[in-house]
Amino acid sequence: MRERGIIVTNCKSRILLLLVLIAVFSISLFASEIIYLDNEHIQEYLGMQGRWYQVSTKNQLDALTAKHEVELADVLRVNSAAQARNLIGAYVFIPYSQKCLKELEEKGMGRKTIECRDDQFIWPLSDVSVLTSVFGLRWGEIHPGLDMPVPRGTIVRAAKDGRVIASGYAGGYGKEIVIEHRNNFITRYAHNSVNFVKVGDLVRKGQAIALVGTTGRSTGPHLHFEIRLNEIPLDPLDFLPENPSLQVNEHRLKNWR
Ligand SMILES: [Zn+2]
Repeated sequence: MRERGIIVTNCKSRILLLLVLIAVFSISLFASEIIYLDNEHIQEYLGMQGRWYQVSTKNQLDALTAKHEVELADVLRVNSAAQARNLIGAYVFIPYSQKCLKELEEKGMGRKTIECRDDQFIWPLSDVSVLTSVFGLRWGEIHPGLDMPVPRGTIVRAAKDGRVIASGYAGGYGKEIVIEHRNNFITRYAHNSVNFVKVGDLVRKGQAIALVGTTGRSTGPHLHFEIRLNEIPLDPLDFLPENPSLQVNEHRLKNWR
């Protein structure tokens, strides 16, 4: 009887352990997080909040640091610049003081938040209503992503947390950014006019990483967006949240899916 008692207890503890494991697994599987979406007023870089500015003169740089209550030394450090003159003519990240951020929030210029599962991708642009190319065959070759026509200068956001593994010019892709995510996924953002992040940067989902442009093999301002798993291109529409108002205006399409 005693032996049977031990077996029953063992069995119970195993079931309990299994239940705990299932609970932990489901929590990690469905864990949701609050995502801050960068907008034209508040953006994030290296964990700081502020905004990217194109700086053309030293006076403009001084005015920006004064207005947003930040020391020049901090601006230099954030932008990996030794001297102020290295920043002239470049896009510069200006971190904002807590007071400036609070004022923007109060004026309704704060960042929008969304809740989503941490393994979910988000759209890399805030308002995508039209696609000019979908994933699949185009002119007899595979088009490995989605083309989203939006005005030049639109903010491109990271679709998921990750690490930047490419940021620069890459042939037909023009100015591109490639981000590596967990579980061997990568995302690519191509034809940009400006890239904000550099190789090695850790980026947050929703963070501004670039501005839309038409660099490389491109016929007009648009974002070319890819999701790949182990280098194999996948259809981003299978991973992005539903967008019922999305239209596909593709005249050149021969065959897809
Ligand atoms: Zn494309």
